[in-house]
Amino acid sequence: MPAEPPTPKLKPCPVCRKPADPRFRPFCSARCRQVDLGRWLAGDYAIPAEEPLPDEDDEG
Ligand SMILES: [Zn+2]
Repeated sequence: MPAEPPTPKLKPCPVCRKPADPRFRPFCSARCRQVDLGRWLAGDYAIPAEEPLPDEDDEG
């Protein structure tokens, strides 16, 4: 098992899911950064952290 290089784990680009670049993090490029900014301004930003709520039976 080879040792992994001490590179910090970067989240994938939220726009295109490519490996993010430290210079443009959390995006992979300046273009994606602009795309994300445009989404924010347009108010059409999708929240990725949307977890399905478990069905709870509040009966009894
Ligand atoms: Zn990207």
